[in-house]
Amino acid sequence: MKVVVLGAGIIGVCTAWYLLEQGHEVTVVDRQKDAALETSFANGAQISVSFCEPWANAGAPFKVAKWLLRDDSPLLFRPSLDPKQWIWGLSFLTQCTSAAFERNVEQLVQLGRYSHAALKDLVGQTGIEYERLERGILHFFSSQADFDNGVAGAEIMRRHGVDRRVLSREEVLKVEPALASFGANIFGGTFTPSDESGDACVFTQKLALLCQQRGAKFLWEHEVLQLSRTGSTIDQVQIASVRSGAKQDLKADAFVAAMGSYTPALVKPLGEFLNIYPAKGYSATLKLKKPEQASVVSLLDDTRKIAISRLGDSIRIAGTAELCGFDNDLDRPTSRTRCAALVRRYEELFPGVADLSEPNYWTGLRPSTPTNIPYIGRSRKASNLWINAGHGTLGWTHGAGSGLAMAELMAGRKPAMDFGCYGL
Ligand SMILES: Cc1cc2nc3c(=O)[nH]c(=O)nc-3n(C[C@H](O)[C@H](O)[C@H](O)COP(=O)(O)OP(=O)(O)OC[C@H]3O[C@@H](n4cnc5c(N)ncnc54)[C@H](O)[C@@H]3O)c2cc1C
Repeated sequence: MKVVVLGAGIIGVCTAWYLLEQGHEVTVVDRQKDAALETSFANGAQISVSFCEPWANAGAPFKVAKWLLRDDSPLLFRPSLDPKQWIWGLSFLTQCTSAAFERNVEQLVQLGRYSHAALKDLVGQTGIEYERLERGILHFFSSQADFDNGVAGAEIMRRHGVDRRVLSREEVLKVEPALASFGANIFGGTFTPSDESGDACVFTQKLALLCQQRGAKFLWEHEVLQLSRTGSTIDQVQIASVRSGAKQDLKADAFVAAMGSYTPALVKPLGEFLNIYPAKGYSATLKLKKPEQASVVSLLDDTRKIAISRLGDSIRIAGTAELCGFDNDLDRPTSRTRCAALVRRYEELFPGVADLSEPNYWTGLRPSTPTNIPYIGRSRKASNLWINAGHGTLGWTHGAGSGLAMAELMAGRKPAMDFGCYGL
């Protein structure tokens, strides 16, 4: 079958890989010069199967209200006149109950496990290197109240079969001795030894090269414009060269929409509604001055809601979310405040360990759904259009599994997990 994959982030490239595995003829289209240059570029680097709680929980509305007016808060909501933002926000509120939280966690754990197994197989098969560290994820807390919440959260995850251990301060420092100078401020932690970390961008770009070697065609620097439909079948997609503006139509037997936050706009003219809204996040990547004193276990700082991951001789600090539409600007005063807060916090935790002179700030738009559960499955409006989008905070964690699940569904098979695939 001839398949066109729209989007070459972690999700599109993994999808292309598994479609090639099944013998399909694959073309991938992306407006960038290479794979993973948008949201998959400089994320928190965590493969967090066991830290997969959605933002929507019973305590979230209270927290969001508390943070509303602080420019450096972990989550910032800037109300706009955009109805999509309000629909998303209201839908998010309906997920802020204990029952919805449990339901969503169950789905995310299922997809996470499936995806982790797929990633391990894929890495074993290809030997791709991407600064992978299989050292677990350590979540630490700097107040007793937060630690108490963390212990309760760990209990919920254990009910779903996840190995999430509660640690005392001393145990936290044993798992990651590099936290010693901040140790007196730590009240405890939770640890998931089977989680890991690695560079999503390096992984995706190397996988794209392997796809090319296996015969996939990549049309870089091409904007996807629109899908054309006859009856319930997509006949072609119109694309345009970013450089020359020249338009062309690509025909195929099937199409996969994997354009992250931009997917809803592509499928909207077909009457398909995807409740995906961009949640802007930031990261800083610092060169290490003293690598021997830097952390190797991937960390989650609960107070600031930031991830800290070691990537070779660099450290990535990532987090925060702003619901402010399609805004990629790094130069706004708020963006600068938020970026600076990441570096300041790192210095507080690990004084003198990193070179702060070139922080390599970055911003990306998480394609977020109110449940944090992605859309993986067949379009409800066209039988040969497939959706793989809306991976929110966990696209790197769920990348391999989402690609494999997509290829399985397109082959008419049910993926081997208990997950509510879209359109089935
Ligand atoms: C600050 C931050 C930290 C994060 N940390 C983690 C983490 O630690 N672990 C984790 O699992 N996840 C993390 N995530 C989430 C993860 O990065 C995303 O879920 C994931 O990158 C989404 O991948 P994607 O392929 O769907 O989207 P993208 O990577 O954005 O890919 C979409 C592709 O579509 C292309 N595209 C879009 N529109 C068009 C168009 N019209 N024409 C042509 N091409 C188009 C883009 O160029 C892009 O390449 C984080 C995200 C952020 C922002």
